[in-house]
Amino acid sequence: MTIRISFLIGIALLCHSTLVAEDNLTWQAGVASAKVTPETPMWMAGYASRNKPSEGTLQDLFVKALALQDDDGKRLVIITCDLISVPRPIRDDLEKAVKEKCNLPPEGLLINCSHTHCGPEIRTTRWSLDGLPPQRLKQANDYVTRLQSTLVKLVESALSDLAPSRISYCRARCGLAMNRRTPSATGFRNFPNPDGPVDHDVPVLKVESPEGKLRAILFGYACHNTTLGIFEFCGDYAGYAQAYLEAAHPEATAMFVMGCGGDQNPYPRRTIELAQQHGRSLANAVETALETQARPITASLRTAYDTATVKYQTAPTKSELQKKAESNDKYDRIHAERLLRQLESDGKLREKYDCPVQVVRLGEQVTLVALPGETVVDYSLRLKNELSNIDGSGPAVWVAGYSNDVFAYVPSRRVLLEGGYEAGGAMRYMTTVLQHGPFKPDVEERIVTKVHELYRALANQ
Ligand SMILES: [Zn+2]
Repeated sequence: MTIRISFLIGIALLCHSTLVAEDNLTWQAGVASAKVTPETPMWMAGYASRNKPSEGTLQDLFVKALALQDDDGKRLVIITCDLISVPRPIRDDLEKAVKEKCNLPPEGLLINCSHTHCGPEIRTTRWSLDGLPPQRLKQANDYVTRLQSTLVKLVESALSDLAPSRISYCRARCGLAMNRRTPSATGFRNFPNPDGPVDHDVPVLKVESPEGKLRAILFGYACHNTTLGIFEFCGDYAGYAQAYLEAAHPEATAMFVMGCGGDQNPYPRRTIELAQQHGRSLANAVETALETQARPITASLRTAYDTATVKYQTAPTKSELQKKAESNDKYDRIHAERLLRQLESDGKLREKYDCPVQVVRLGEQVTLVALPGETVVDYSLRLKNELSNIDGSGPAVWVAGYSNDVFAYVPSRRVLLEGGYEAGGAMRYMTTVLQHGPFKPDVEERIVTKVHELYRALANQ
């Protein structure tokens, strides 16, 4: 009898929770968008070899925000940017401003960048401003100041746009990304590798009014925005994909979220037509996702944000750096000179870095993980595998890279041990955070452990 009663109570609870789930589909959502194309020519980001400022605009660049609020008033603002990077000072400045002005907590703010290589340079730190001629320095500072105030207003307008909305998740696939690390006799080189890992998922969050009017399309893809290296501003394939989707759905804002595309390139490359074709291909994948049976998301939001500490391998000695500072290679020489100055002023080179990790759960239907840095594809493949139920009945897992602090390439253990550009070779070009060399091989474990820790904390909320 006892068993029977508890069985009946169980059935009653199940019915109750099903009813609650069906009733609880109304979110508050708000959308905002702002143009951030520089108004005058300025130096561009992405390729160290650029030797002159921009020469016009092929396509405007935007920052966009999607604000979500659940039944309990808990909020999340996702910002996407047609820009090379999100340096930590930009995130910190915005985090502080929107906490004061909008009472948005740090865990409720997610900033992702498309990593377009045809955007303005974004210089915010001592070493990224080091050695710039006065006019370029002023231009870089002015751009960042304008960007910071634009981002604050963007968050405010997205929050003031909150209105009842339904949110659902769907997905498709797109094949334009290919692994760009090819083994050769002299190590891994940047070259299309059809045998390397890829993540062709196109996750989509569809935001509609209660009447079914499409308000926003948030979509992701894991691939560098490097079809182009021209001297005109352009969002590359992600810019075109957003433009095509907004042309097809004039009342909706399309927002691109960069995935773990640190070791992925669009192929073929190098012409505007190809950037447009890749954009069309990705936009078509999003349209296909929108045609599938989308999974409605219940209006319950949980967010967690913390830092994972990653460590660097043993730093070079002063005499090793002095030797390197004599190098004929310009990039090696400048890198060594800066490290020598860092050593002199700080007394040591960097031993660790605290990088932000964010986990968001939208209802029981979607888990969104936002990782820092130029994250390689192994992270999204691993986390989707580890956080999804094996039968696929659990929450969909969406892994974004290039979020909240793009401070370095973030290799997996595999990529780190293989070596090459993404494993640490790129550090000589990077100045936002001056770093002497590769991370320790446990970099992946440290970041993934933090993701699991936050995921478990949210499960208990
Ligand atoms: Zn990159």
